[in-house]
Amino acid sequence: MKNIPHKIYLQESELPKYWYNVVSDMPDKPDPFMHPGTLKPIVLEDLIPVFCKELSEQELDRTTRYFEIPDEVFDYYKTFRPSPLVRAYNLEKELQTPAKIYYKFEGNNTSGSHKLNSAAAQVYYCKKQGLTKLTTETGAGQWGTALAMACAYFKLDLTVYMVKISYEQKPFRKAVIQTYGADIVPSPSETTEVGKKILAANPGTGGSLGCAISEAIEVALKSENCRYVLGSVLNHVLLHQSVIGLETKAAFEKIDEYPDIIIGCAGGGSNAGGLMSPFVKDKIEKKQSPYFILVEPVSCPSLTRGKFTYDFGDTGNMTPLAKMYTIGNGYIPSPNHAGGLRYHGMSPIVSKLYHDRIIDEARAVEQTKVFEAATLFAKCETILPAPESSHAVRVAIDEALKCKETGEAKNILFGLSGTGYFDMTAYTQFMDKTMTDYIPTDADLEKGFASIPKFPGLE
Ligand SMILES: *Cc1c(COP(=O)(O)O)cnc(C)c1O
Repeated sequence: MKNIPHKIYLQESELPKYWYNVVSDMPDKPDPFMHPGTLKPIVLEDLIPVFCKELSEQELDRTTRYFEIPDEVFDYYKTFRPSPLVRAYNLEKELQTPAKIYYKFEGNNTSGSHKLNSAAAQVYYCKKQGLTKLTTETGAGQWGTALAMACAYFKLDLTVYMVKISYEQKPFRKAVIQTYGADIVPSPSETTEVGKKILAANPGTGGSLGCAISEAIEVALKSENCRYVLGSVLNHVLLHQSVIGLETKAAFEKIDEYPDIIIGCAGGGSNAGGLMSPFVKDKIEKKQSPYFILVEPVSCPSLTRGKFTYDFGDTGNMTPLAKMYTIGNGYIPSPNHAGGLRYHGMSPIVSKLYHDRIIDEARAVEQTKVFEAATLFAKCETILPAPESSHAVRVAIDEALKCKETGEAKNILFGLSGTGYFDMTAYTQFMDKTMTDYIPTDADLEKGFASIPKFPGLE
């Protein structure tokens, strides 16, 4: 028996120096973003009023395989990376499974998630361009925190539009974001035209990521020296998050192992996509054939029940059209949903990989089952997982239990994208048994589908 340590760490000298752009190796590329006015593919000039130039270039790049991580970003990464690859010995023992369970833990920074990987990169490029102010949205608050941290480090101003229901449920998130010097506004708000419109149409709404994105973009467009930044979904975010997968792969090489099953939770697809990308490369090149599983909540089932079609990325329909799995930009998940991953769409790259079944499977899980897994994981492995990450924990446990039945000693890898210290309202609901599972009806989903725009010739 090989002696595999609990934590497999990389030395500083072994850290990835490049991000990996999986699009460059995809045999069939994702369909291009479309301009909703001209219905032609988006070009650089369309993006640069909203995003900074270098990020816009990364967004559209389909050929460059590796992007060098700038020294300034690398130096910042070194304050919180490498993140450990952990062998979940205690969980394996608890489950009495012959499977070997590994997780890549991204919660070891104050934002409590992988989001700092892209925040660092995005803020750096914006600073380099001479911008002074950024706007963004945040759902559960991890992205807002990560960006506030990176803006404090690189010295840029930031306004965060936070989905109102989370803003109210998580007062300490607000305090952390403010501690790092950012402004925070609950969304939808009266501070923007689109916010006023959404409020008029849905009085009392708890908001959604789609609404908050619209507000943040409106303010970025109206403000001097200001751009918008997004924490998930987009190609350049997936690019930056490839650092997760690159480190993971290097760590597996150190122990001379390879994962048979790779599991990631998917909201907009960035942590799962980042973890999977370098392994997807192996699969495309037919060197290895890991089985990929994306996990999403039953209450926001873009991959498992959505349509693969062009849709807007936001409720106010200000973004380009993206071909992706979507349940409609107007879809607002049921208010009893506490588990995060509330976005209506999905990364176009992840969507395409799944559509072509290079990513094998998408699975939707119920939130009570997710918190059951989260609680077991916390007791065994000591880390309190984020509800989002716990979707991946759930499926890792289920796969390990299958191995127990078949006797197979598979290597199961999952992305533990973050920690759940700010999610104790949700944990309390689970313990109180007031947490319920809401599975949207077909009629509920039809309402969301009705918000998907119809353009002749674009599907
Ligand atoms: C934001 C977030 C997610 C979901 O976003 P993806 O882009 O799908 O990765 C998952 N886990 C945590 C901890 C998050 O903060």
